[in-house]
Amino acid sequence: MDIFPGRLYLKKEVETVEGLQEILAISANRCFRCGNTNPFLFGKMTCASCDREDCLYCRNCIVMGRVNSCQKLYYQKADILPERIESCLSWEGTLSPGQKKASSAVVSSIKQKVDMLLWAVAGSGKTEMMFEGMDLALKQGFRICIASPRVDVCLELYPRLQAVFKEVDIVCLYGDSKDKYQGEQFVVATTHQLIRFYDTFQVIFIDEVDAFPYAKDPFLEYAVRKARTKVGSTIIITATPEKKWQQECAAGKRNFVKIPARYHRKQLPVPRTCWIGPWKKNLAQGKITLKLINWIKKAELRNQPVLIFFPEIEAMNQFAEALVNYDFTRPVTVHSADQLRKEKVEWLREGKIKLLLTTTILERGVTFKDVQVAVFGSEGRIFTEAALVQIAGRAGRKLTHPTGDVCFFHYGKTTEMNRAITHIKKMNQLGFKEGLLDD
Ligand SMILES: [Zn+2]
Ligand SMILES: [Zn+2]
Repeated sequence: MDIFPGRLYLKKEVETVEGLQEILAISANRCFRCGNTNPFLFGKMTCASCDREDCLYCRNCIVMGRVNSCQKLYYQKADILPERIESCLSWEGTLSPGQKKASSAVVSSIKQKVDMLLWAVAGSGKTEMMFEGMDLALKQGFRICIASPRVDVCLELYPRLQAVFKEVDIVCLYGDSKDKYQGEQFVVATTHQLIRFYDTFQVIFIDEVDAFPYAKDPFLEYAVRKARTKVGSTIIITATPEKKWQQECAAGKRNFVKIPARYHRKQLPVPRTCWIGPWKKNLAQGKITLKLINWIKKAELRNQPVLIFFPEIEAMNQFAEALVNYDFTRPVTVHSADQLRKEKVEWLREGKIKLLLTTTILERGVTFKDVQVAVFGSEGRIFTEAALVQIAGRAGRKLTHPTGDVCFFHYGKTTEMNRAITHIKKMNQLGFKEGLLDD
């Protein structure tokens, strides 16, 4: 069995531990691998290797193989690779002024070995903003990683990166990925996979850091810190940073760059709101407000695809059934555990269907040309400012169709709804101020 630099191994995973660095798996009641310190997430067991009856093991990261307090983790130090003379980037595109600004900030963070927050609106072309920095890091022989909480995001990024960094070994790691890490210089991974790495990457990009359901994952920060070398850059990319971070940016306590405009230089669509009364009661009677029925029909007349977001699966299914009472065929619905999730997204993209009902699962990472967006029951708790900003960000992403209607259909306006609308308006104002928007 081969050992690859920077990855943590259990004793049983290697032939010999000779010549490897070692580290206690659990010390001072903390799991080294995942950072768990919560006593409730440690188990006790009778252990054959240390003969104790109360040998501790970590339950938090047990899916990656059990680690006991009497065990060690083994690794081979990850060295910086030889420098490359030539650029590894083959990309013909050009950056918009907003993208260029972000790209320069990424490059300078990597040069200065500091962390940074890249706060860029949905549809601003975030991937391209990283190319130049990635190229610089790869040329210097740095090991780099781009991680996202969402496997969909990783799967979308991987082929795009392979296409522009053709000469570089890239691997994509997630829970049940066939590919395993074999010392590749460039790792694309779910954030969870970072648990396996130690002191490995000089540069880590975290994409869509606030993505549900990991937004509040207390272990993520630890995992990133542990996987990165002590000196290096962590670049966090999001359209919707949490409030604490927004405040830190405003107070000058966080190194950040804000890209308030889309690459196509058109404003972000500002959501409208529409009161629809007690929709739960109505749905139970098979009724849907005519305001929404007419809204759907209007989009249908213009041959525009429609996405409607729901706070829960049950309401979505009731809505789908009720729609039949209004001369519609039963629409397609999608949610996170849906086996046909990818296919259904493709149907809407290819125009095979014109209407797709969804839970928040499609709030990010998807682009549909000319899509019209509704949020049904937008007062629901799941619709936070961040979720609503992301959802609104689905509309008007394409250069050919840079606008789109976004409407929050609600039974009582919430603070989160107001915050989302203010957030988007402020971004547009800033976009004009910085000369990144045309109209
Ligand atoms: Zn033991
Ligand atoms: Zn653990």
